[in-house]
Amino acid sequence: MTSLRSVFASATAIVTFSLTVPTVSWAEQPIPVVATFSILGDMVERIGGEHIALTTLVGPDGDTHVYQPTPKAARSVAEADVLFMNGLEFEGWLERLAEAASFNGAMVVATNGIVPIAFEEHEDEHEEHDEHEEHEEHDDHDDHEEHDEHEEHDEHAGHDHGTFDPHAWQSLDNAVIYANNIAAGLAQADPANASAYYINRAVFVDQIVALKSDVDAMMGALPADKRTVVTPHDAFGYFAAAYDLTFEAPQGMSTESEVSAADVAALITQIRRDSISAVFIESITDNRMMEQIANETGATIGGTLYSDALSGETGPASTYLDMIRHNATTLSDALGS
Ligand code: ZN
Repeated sequence: MTSLRSVFASATAIVTFSLTVPTVSWAEQPIPVVATFSILGDMVERIGGEHIALTTLVGPDGDTHVYQPTPKAARSVAEADVLFMNGLEFEGWLERLAEAASFNGAMVVATNGIVPIAFEEHEDEHEEHDEHEEHEEHDDHDDHEEHDEHEEHDEHAGHDHGTFDPHAWQSLDNAVIYANNIAAGLAQADPANASAYYINRAVFVDQIVALKSDVDAMMGALPADKRTVVTPHDAFGYFAAAYDLTFEAPQGMSTESEVSAADVAALITQIRRDSISAVFIESITDNRMMEQIANETGATIGGTLYSDALSGETGPASTYLDMIRHNATTLSDALGS
């Protein structure tokens, strides 16, 4: 028997907590499912379609890092057959919520099977500025080094931090893995509609692949000297790795972490030194800091990027696919020659 605690301790993909498989009954009821945040919720909706009744806990423009579950959230979780989470310690509040709600459905960790990017501070300045090389050497990092950085960060931010970058959805390749995990989770919970889930998955994956070829072209066309950008929090590591970009951020990988005046000053120095021409704001963060940085450096605000949440329905990033396209277009418009 797998305990709730162990699903959080390990990153097991699908754990069935009980054998209460929904009955394949006379009148089909959509199965109640919960997704933790809007980006994941959109993917689940796409694959579940009419066969699911979805509740998304952290809605559009919401910040999952600092979310505080409500009694209503607990009721949704209690009633859910499947709970979809990102994992990689993105939802630090979920374990307690699931326990409090006596959740006994299946838990699907959407990032299961991706290659996670190790958490790393971008703060230290390198003479040769070879941050890309450093990225590729992640696997060679010995434990000591990583441990030291981690401790250092903890001192800095004063709170526990995950070992890996949780923002894996910013890679379109990873989105395919999310889609696979979602479809498998729904098919297991609701075998009667398994074929529908797999068909929806295939349609969604085709859309992801088509979008990827557009984004590849846009990012591939960026000039070599315009590939460093600044965002408020460090949420674009997977996008940066996919497209040979460098994202600098005064705040760490969680919006919970505090920004020191020294961090901001160092970033301002770097923007001036490296002639970074545009900084970007995020829909979920307080942007006064970025406005201050833009004012002090003369960099322009290149637009709004969507990192951890979709926009509302009338916004430019109301679906996962629209979000990625919007971000790529915004970067391309601001940085392209
Ligand atoms: Zn984030």
